[in-house]
Amino acid sequence: MDEIVNLCKRRGFVFPSAEIYGGFRSTYDYGPMGVLMLRNVKDAWWRSMVQLRDEVVGLDAAILSSPRIWEASGHLTNFTDPLVDCRNCKERWRFDNLEPDPADGLVHCPNCGSTDLTQPRAFNLMFKTYVGPVEDEASVAYLRPETAQGHFVNFLNVLQTSRKKPPFGIAQVGKSFRNEITPGNFVFRTREFEQMEMEYFVPPDQGSRWFEYWCAERMQWYIDLGITADMLRLRAHTTDELSHYSSGTSDVEFLFPWGWGELEGIANRTDFDLRAHSQASGVNLEYYDPSSGERYFPHVIEPAAGATRTMMAFLIAAYDVDEIGGEQRTVLHLHPRLAPYQVAVLPLSKNARLVPTAWSTARTVVPPT
Ligand SMILES: [Zn+2]
Repeated sequence: MDEIVNLCKRRGFVFPSAEIYGGFRSTYDYGPMGVLMLRNVKDAWWRSMVQLRDEVVGLDAAILSSPRIWEASGHLTNFTDPLVDCRNCKERWRFDNLEPDPADGLVHCPNCGSTDLTQPRAFNLMFKTYVGPVEDEASVAYLRPETAQGHFVNFLNVLQTSRKKPPFGIAQVGKSFRNEITPGNFVFRTREFEQMEMEYFVPPDQGSRWFEYWCAERMQWYIDLGITADMLRLRAHTTDELSHYSSGTSDVEFLFPWGWGELEGIANRTDFDLRAHSQASGVNLEYYDPSSGERYFPHVIEPAAGATRTMMAFLIAAYDVDEIGGEQRTVLHLHPRLAPYQVAVLPLSKNARLVPTAWSTARTVVPPT
């Protein structure tokens, strides 16, 4: 993993944010190579999920969002991690990450070893802010913790303007924010991150079929772009892992240097969100099928991937060291669709006669505007 982090810094993929000030709380900036590759990852996703599909359309919703959305979606109440404080050293921990010590059966503070911990309490992971000049309850807004709610609150707008009917999807790529208690593993878990999410609306009796379909489809996407099948697995969530809205979730996991980690979750969100927003807003978000005269809440299958951690997985999978003429060199076997540069013309000499030839050669590979 150190090799990847070093490569990212050395070659301009990822820099620690505010590095000249000593860094800032697990935030990262994407450098000249990183921004190209990250854009290619998102473009590859967009191409496969939107451009090559007739039944999926795009969306770009606001990041600053109304508390009413998060009240209806259940995030204000349920989007929490259990936290305990150590009364001795004042460190704060996720209770579900702490294991009792087999020696005495007690939970110890991982920092100072004290057993004087508070009772766990729910810590909401959403970033709260205020919109406008007055910081009061009426001006509260949240940075979205997932892009998905934008799809649900725009369901009717998209339906009416795109004239789609289930099964159809709404896709979005954008930043989300979660106030994680324990970010870490480089860009794997950060408080600011980028998501690639699609909500796929289907007739209620087709939910499980489409869930299976998207699990297979999404696994294949990673394989097609160069991750070998032995570094990927599909893992079904256990009942106590399931989000409050989900009837079933499977994760596409990648074998990171520290073990298996999630790249993407495929969730069967049922009709939870459309129903909840209908109730809370008073606007009926049912789909009306003109051919049968039926009204129903579509069920939703959601493949939701993390763009930044996916970029890291592609880098790790592509990383290789080989030997040329007895000298070691680092090689990235990246899929051409993901590589920062597809073609380069590199003059190896400063010879004044060669430079114009290099430039004219370079111009022949630039696509016409
Ligand atoms: Zn402590």
